[in-house]
Amino acid sequence: MLKKIDHIGIAVVDLDQGLALFRDVLGLTYLGTEIVEEMKVKVGILKIGEVRIELLEATSEDSPIARFLADGGRGVHHLAFVADDVNRALNACEAQGIRAVDKQVRPGADGATVAFLHPKSTQGVLIELTDGGDS
Ligand code: ZN
Repeated sequence: MLKKIDHIGIAVVDLDQGLALFRDVLGLTYLGTEIVEEMKVKVGILKIGEVRIELLEATSEDSPIARFLADGGRGVHHLAFVADDVNRALNACEAQGIRAVDKQVRPGADGATVAFLHPKSTQGVLIELTDGGDS
């Protein structure tokens, strides 16, 4: 059902500070920054090997990232797995009793189609199913 890790989402208070670490110090390849309106986040996208790292900065107080940080969350926010068919993977998970954050797939960064599974059903890890988008 799932093929590989697409990206790791990391919550940051300040995207510039995140880039100063992951791009400038650690030397990951920087692919660009985009705003994902649906999730109220500014996303700095980096790449190492086949895996992308997405640095997520909230653009609004009611962004999921703002709530994550306000609740004391830091660092790794979610893992994203590539699925051939996000809708089918979402339905298969729900059919096995996994709670989904999203009842339907929705747009993510980089032209991707995504859906999130609820960490209460997934060993505490917020899991994103994605078709991988344009990259
Ligand atoms: Zn993601």
